[in-house]
Amino acid sequence: METDLLFADDDQPPPPEDGAEPWIVLVADDDPEVHAVTRLALGGLRYKGRRLSLVSALSAGEAAAVLRCTPNVAIILLDVVMETDDAGLRLVRTIREELNNHAIRIILRTGQPGQAPEEDVVLAYDINDYKSKAELTAKKLFTSVVAALRAYADIVALETNRRGLQQIIQSTDRLFELRCMQQFAAGVLTQLSAFLRVKPDAILCAQRGAAGRPLPDGAFYVLAGAGCYAEAAGQTASPTGAVIPPALAERITDAFRSRRSHYGANETTLFIRVPDGHEVAAWIHTDRPLDEVDRGLVEVFASKIALSFANVSLYERLREANETLEARVAERTRALEAANAKLERLATVDPLTAVWNRRHFLDLAAAELGRAHRHGRRLSVILLDLDNFKAVNDGHGHAAGDEALRTAVVRAREALRTSDQIARFGGEEFVALLPETDLAGARIVAERVRAAIAGSPVVTDGRAIPITASLGVAEWSASEPSIELTLRRADAALYEAKLAGRDRVCAADEPKAPARP
Ligand code: GH3
Ligand code: MG
Ligand code: MG
Repeated sequence: METDLLFADDDQPPPPEDGAEPWIVLVADDDPEVHAVTRLALGGLRYKGRRLSLVSALSAGEAAAVLRCTPNVAIILLDVVMETDDAGLRLVRTIREELNNHAIRIILRTGQPGQAPEEDVVLAYDINDYKSKAELTAKKLFTSVVAALRAYADIVALETNRRGLQQIIQSTDRLFELRCMQQFAAGVLTQLSAFLRVKPDAILCAQRGAAGRPLPDGAFYVLAGAGCYAEAAGQTASPTGAVIPPALAERITDAFRSRRSHYGANETTLFIRVPDGHEVAAWIHTDRPLDEVDRGLVEVFASKIALSFANVSLYERLREANETLEARVAERTRALEAANAKLERLATVDPLTAVWNRRHFLDLAAAELGRAHRHGRRLSVILLDLDNFKAVNDGHGHAAGDEALRTAVVRAREALRTSDQIARFGGEEFVALLPETDLAGARIVAERVRAAIAGSPVVTDGRAIPITASLGVAEWSASEPSIELTLRRADAALYEAKLAGRDRVCAADEPKAPARP
């Protein structure tokens, strides 16, 4: 690029103090005089508070070079005849087709109208205005440029809007997929700062606390914080608290109180009403006051967010309800298991003495008998009946009788081996099952049990009650298909013990051999 042929920026006005960027107008003409006149005519122009920055090119080639590296040129004042008779017209094609720049307004200016007849040119080329240099007085140039700037500003606003909306649709779609409030809230701040093109120094607040708890007047809950407010997330804040600066907290409470958004010089507070009744406020630091396009986009974003927000909070409530339900099911299951265990115990254990009951004993004995049968093992039983127990009840009362029963069981249990089973057979009668034990062994065990029971009186309620028991012992015989038969022989032996004076052990006879047919 032959930069020396361009009017350098040194004679450009300094950038306006308000920081607003100037409109860039490119003047492409091979006549230096035209540049000077244009500069004179447009020098003081301000449109929408922004000055003009005039850039000059003395040929179509230079103009193209400028356009390639300066995408935001608003207007080109373009001469037709420069390095060639149609250099300007060719540049029009380059701008629209090659550089794909449809926003720039092209005002064609020609000194030789005959060279490029207006009707033909306007129809054939994508230009926005056609002027003969002769008719371009300062006033007319001014009018032309302002009209073109207006059109350019509209086009840029439309384009910004279109891009912003596209971004909102994409970002809110992404947010819609989030199911967790924390992630969602953080996502809102990220997306908001992204489409406003600012650093994400922002917070998002709800008027209610975690799990919908109401908060004191003026306080609010910080759903998410980004940038320098990241630490505030998950905390309750207020203008008098220390979680966020008081001025910022004031903005949030104002938004909740007035139910309105607020657009400041370098900050924006958005008030968002969620369809499910929640109210949310987002505050974001911006490096500029938001213009109308930005505000429009922000409002669209807010309304989209409101829907997603309702969705996420509904999902959270569902999840909480589900968790409560699961906890309740687990609790019920535990209660049911405990009840089942209790029932099982009631069905198998004697409540007074805590040893097996008759029914369970018979089940255990049947299983043991099966094993003894299969493996050719010995098996014996002991039947035990407390002596003159009616007299104990009569003499000391039923409660003392119960205590005596329990004590007798404890003593019997201690005299048995761990592999032996004891059960209450009914009343004051007990039964023991002795696996892998023959009659002689069973007698010894029974004698130990008898001695243990009779060893000392039962002391209850300050009284000493002497107790004894009679025991009948029998060994299972392989000829007996059920334990009941063995028990019957043990019962006969027990009866013998009673007859013989009680407090003793008697062994049963061998089962009678089945009569020969
Ligand atoms: P024997 O030496 O002939 O066996 O005399 P006994 O008095 O023990 O026999 P009997 O069958 O006449 O009486 C049994 C007594 O046991 C009667 C009954 O009240 C008592 N008894 C049975 N079950 C319980 C109980 O659960 N608690 C109490 N306290 N007494 C019971
Ligand atoms: Mg008795
Ligand atoms: Mg009895």
